[in-house]
Amino acid sequence: MENYPKTILEFEKRFSSEQSCREYLCQIRWQEGFICPHCNHMEYWERENGQYQCKYCRYRVSVTAGTIFQDTRIPLQLWFRAMWQVVSQKHGISALGLQRVLGLSRYETTWTMLHRLRTAMVRPGRDRLMGIVQVDETYIGGPRPGKRGRGAAGKTLVMVAVEVNNKRAGRIRLHKIKDASGDSLMPAIKESIQPKSEVLTDGWVGYSLLSTVGYKHTIIRETTDVGKNLLPLANRVISLFKRWLLGTHQGKPSASHLDYYLDEFVFRFNRRTSKSRGLLFYRLIQQAVNIDPIKNQDIHGGRG
Ligand SMILES: [Zn+2]
Repeated sequence: MENYPKTILEFEKRFSSEQSCREYLCQIRWQEGFICPHCNHMEYWERENGQYQCKYCRYRVSVTAGTIFQDTRIPLQLWFRAMWQVVSQKHGISALGLQRVLGLSRYETTWTMLHRLRTAMVRPGRDRLMGIVQVDETYIGGPRPGKRGRGAAGKTLVMVAVEVNNKRAGRIRLHKIKDASGDSLMPAIKESIQPKSEVLTDGWVGYSLLSTVGYKHTIIRETTDVGKNLLPLANRVISLFKRWLLGTHQGKPSASHLDYYLDEFVFRFNRRTSKSRGLLFYRLIQQAVNIDPIKNQDIHGGRG
């Protein structure tokens, strides 16, 4: 079912009021119809303030409760426009750019909106990569490659995993890791790649346990320092990521906020061949109503 606007005109026409945005959220959130979160009853009244009330237990719920839009004073119309901006531009939009487009007076507001949206870009329980996958690590935020197994001041280590489809990059995962030890790499790999996949790496000792945890391990290059001579596809992904950070976001985010940018980049990269911006908008909303709400202070604190 194609239930999303395909052009900016369709978008503007469809979401011209708070009411129409709310109804759209309802359709996506309760695709099988309203279900009371309290007693699972399905009959309801719609109240004037946009709340839904269960006819059975009289529990009241707003369609934004339990979504990334919960407890924000920002009108849904602005949220929808922000989402359209985020998906309709090939490289996304910076907080400053979004502030201008939405005509908001505070930079802080759009910065927080964008970070909330990024949390919706990771699909809960998303599929892991499979088949043949290149894995490597790189430092973000540092000019020079560093020694493996040791931290480098001001730099953050990121594991890169790229599916190999006929020598070209398929889907990717980027994962912030503490260091390049096996103890850090193995959990990141398990979270990103399905067992029985063939994992291509260099000869770094941190990967030596791969074959004991359910993967086919192939070493395709001798060991070098981090970030030097990355495996080719991993290298391409990382240079695109760094260019995107510089181009769209004017530089490097702090280590504690890096996850948000990794998530947005993965979302974009894995959907880069999608011709339909409207479909991306739909996917983003779908994920936005299906994840746990986060508090603003959690965003400001970053994710460790
Ligand atoms: Zn109920």
